[in-house]
This record gives sequence, structure tokens and C-alpha cells, in this order.
Amino acid sequence: MSYNSDKNLGHSTTINGAPASSDRNSLTVGADGPIVLHDHHLVDTLAMFNREKTVERQPHAKGSGAFGVFETTHDVSAYTKAALFQEGAKTEMLARFSTVAGEQGSPDTWRDVRGFSLKFYTSEGNYDLVGNNTPIFFVRDPMKFPHFIRSQKRLPDSGLRDSHMQWDFWTSHPETAHQVTYLMGRRGLPKSWRNMHGFGSHTYMWVNGQGERFWVKYHFRTCQGEENYTNAEATEMSGVDADFHRRDLFEAIERGDHPSWDLFVQVMPYEEARTYRFNPFDLTKTWSQKDYPLIPVGRMTLNRNPENFFAEIEQAAFSPSNLVPGIGLSPDRMLLGRVFAYPDAQRRRIGTNFHQLPVNQPKVPTNTYVFDGNMNYHHSGNQPTYVSGTAGRAFADHNGPIEDGWESDGALVRQTYSLYPEDDDFGQAGTLIRDVMDDEQRDRFVETITGAIQGVRSPVLERVFQYWKNVDQTIGERIEAAYNKSASAK
Ligand code: NDP
Repeated sequence: MSYNSDKNLGHSTTINGAPASSDRNSLTVGADGPIVLHDHHLVDTLAMFNREKTVERQPHAKGSGAFGVFETTHDVSAYTKAALFQEGAKTEMLARFSTVAGEQGSPDTWRDVRGFSLKFYTSEGNYDLVGNNTPIFFVRDPMKFPHFIRSQKRLPDSGLRDSHMQWDFWTSHPETAHQVTYLMGRRGLPKSWRNMHGFGSHTYMWVNGQGERFWVKYHFRTCQGEENYTNAEATEMSGVDADFHRRDLFEAIERGDHPSWDLFVQVMPYEEARTYRFNPFDLTKTWSQKDYPLIPVGRMTLNRNPENFFAEIEQAAFSPSNLVPGIGLSPDRMLLGRVFAYPDAQRRRIGTNFHQLPVNQPKVPTNTYVFDGNMNYHHSGNQPTYVSGTAGRAFADHNGPIEDGWESDGALVRQTYSLYPEDDDFGQAGTLIRDVMDDEQRDRFVETITGAIQGVRSPVLERVFQYWKNVDQTIGERIEAAYNKSASAK
């Protein structure tokens, strides 16, 4: 129970716990006179109200989530020793879903990538998997991330979102093509959060009990059926109910209809990363499921709504740096950038000791050497604050190679990834259009792009046509023709 929620107290209190004299009338000089400054209950009430909101997330501001359980149903101990992925293990967890570009009040059903963030309260510490509903991303170097997000947000002068700016960025950075194709396809408009798949997106490392290393990609496949809205349905819903996805999840759980997702992994033996046809650490690429088929792991089920949205969802802090033994990172630059950026965002957004809040706190005892700071709540009493061989407080002392590491050498450079045999910016986007989409999806795709590029001006417009011809000559020609037709009809 939280500190100020005792409904049985019989009266309300001031923040220092004394009985409050009135929550309805401020203290005035006579019934019609001025308010006095020493009405500290009024002053606290107004001052706290001014500070009620934290800074919204930048990006992924609009979202919600729920608690649940992850159960490992298959034996994957050959690949990882992580306790949560041992067959039969059940782990409490939290999921948060979100859009990326819109602000907190924006409609859930705008076309966008969806965040798919998971926190597992494991017996070895918290493990976070901070993914999306797409297996890929727009860029592959974190240096580009703030530029990319700003191009999808608002113009400096009018404060409006702007298709010209979006397409200017995308066409200037051809590595975006795969993710833009995915986003403009039917999966860019999930019918609900319950109806979308989730992906870890990055490549991670798994380490088994014998110290063998593997590269993995996570796929959470919805058990509710993968369903999407059409453009017209999503546009209508964004006007009818801007909180539709948030409401849908909450109400489903309220009525006992607990959504679930089956976790599968693609596993690549450590050495194969050197010779795969695509760079396996490039976040703009998938690993073909024909090369690395899906291996079942377990099921996550969301079964409990937050009791308090702000405390448990808004203040939930996810970070790919929350790892547990048996799971490591990879040379994916975007992942390495996020390992810094996420905890830093939470320190700024929530506060220095964000990890001490109940929703973020590990369920296992901690013994860290980080101290103090704003709002420090948990402390280590009078124990030493420094590592000492004599003081009796445990500390870690590994010296040598780490089990979840990888080899790396060479001079320090600023340069793009080396190319693997089949690496290019457009190939996998073309496969998605030609081999995965059917005729009806391709028709809708042309319609969606034609709508999305309204307002794009020369020379970016010409670059848009070329971008799509690079992905697939036919689809590019169809987009150009459809756009010209729509322009001449105006
Ligand atoms: P597969 O034929 O084995 O897999 C195709 C994948 O595409 C399946 O995961 C399928 O999901 C998914 N898919 C189906 N419709 C769409 C859509 N409209 N938008 C996005 N994804 C869709 O082929 P490969 O693994 O060799 O991959 C071929 C292409 O499929 C890739 O270039 C990539 O664009 C796309 N893709 C690949 C994924 C991967 O992890 N390999 C994941 C998702 C997409 P489902 O099984 O639910 O139908």
C-alpha cells in the first residue's frame, strides 16, 4: 500500500501526516477577505499540482501497459543459462506499449511503429527487453537517432508535423527503406496492441551453462491473431477514440480476457556471424527465417492492470542495460547507444534514483556501490561506501575476459559498418514488397505512400520516387503514377 492511500483513516492529512483541516476551503481573513500565505495546506496542494507531471518520454510518450507473467515452456538451456529462460520458470513481468512520434495526448491509431517494452522481475535481477512491433529500425547508427526523431516530430516555426521533413530524412538516409516499407505496409496500423507481434529487434547474445555463446533475435507472436486496421478505419478511430488501444488493453484485462504472446528466438551460432550473408548486427536487417527458423521458448500473459497509471506505467523505466547472467549485448551500434541513452533518459525524466521506485525495483536484494542523489530512499546504512578488502562488505572482482563478450580490434574510426556479401539498403525492403506482400497489400501500399507524400516538395519528391524505384522498380513507378494522378486531379 502506498504511503498516502489509507482509506480507513477517517480523515485526510497534510503531507506531514497531521490531520488536514479542510480540502475544500482555503484559509482567509474573514469569509470575503484575502488568502493568507501561511495556509500551508493550500500552498502544498498548489505547489504539488504544479509538479504533478514528469517530462513526457522523448519519444514513445503515448502508451500504457500491464503486468503479467512469463512462463518458459521449452528447454532452451542449450543456448542460455538465464534463470528466467529455464523450462518451467515463471517470472513476473511488466509490458508497456506505445506509439513513437506522438505526444501523450495523441491518438493511438496513427500510423507509427509501436514500442513493445518488457521488464522481467527475474530471480537474478531485472531483465528488460525494450523492443518494437517491428523486427528492424530506421537507422543503424545512434548518432542519427535524435535527427531522425526530430524529423518525425514538429517544425520549429509552425509547430506542425510535416511530411516534407519526414521524407527528406528518409530519402537522405536510404538505410531507412526497410523500416519505412514495413511501416507503410499493413502492420503500420495494428488493430490493437493485443493484435500485434513484438520483436527484440536488436541482436543479443545468449550464453549457456558451458560458456558457449550464441546470437539471438526475439520474436513475440500474438496469440490473439495478427490484425490491422485499414487507413480509413484507423483515421476514423483516431477521431472517435484517441485512447482506443489504451482502453482496449485495460478493458480486456478487466474482463478477464488476458492477452498472451508466444516467444520464439532465432539462434545463430557465434562463429556464423562472421560469414552470414547479411550483417547480423545491422538493425535495418532481419535474419531470414529460412536460414534461422523460430525456436519456441515460452509464453507471456498479461493479467493485471496497473492500479495507478502514473506510478506504475508513467514512472516505469525500461533499459536494454538491464541484463542478467546468460544474456548479453552485441556489436549492434544502436543497441550500444541505447544502453547509455535509456538510463540517462530516466535519470532526467524521473530522477536520479528512478530505479528505487517500486515498479522499477528488482525483486532480489541489491548490494550496489551507487549512493545518495535526489530522492534517495534505499540506503546501505553505515556500511562502507568504497571497495575495501577489510571492511567486510562484498564486492565484485572479476579480472579477465567476460563470458558475454566478443572479439574486436582495429583503429578507432568514424565509418559505416563493413558490408557483408548481400548487404545493401534496399534488398530486404524489396523482398518484403515482392515476396511477402500479396497483390491487395501492394495496392494498399501504393495508396498509403501516395497519401503520405502529399505536401512533399521538389527536390525531395523526386527523391521519393527514386527511393521506391530502388526498393522495387515496379512499385516506384506505380507510386509516381498514382501521385501524378492525384496531383492532376487537384
Ligand atoms: P519468411 O517468408 O520466412 O517470413 C516472412 C515474414 O514476414 C514473417 O515473419 C511474416 O509474419 C512477415 N510478414 C507477413 N506479412 C507482413 C507484412 N505485411 N509486413 C511485414 N512483415 C510481414 O521470409 P524471411 O524470413 O526470409 O524474410 C523475408 C522478408 O520478410 C524480410 O526481408 C522482411 O522484410 C520480412 N520479415 C522478416 C522477418 C524475419 O524475422 N525474418 C520478420 C518480419 C518480416 P507472419 O509469420 O506473422 O505472417
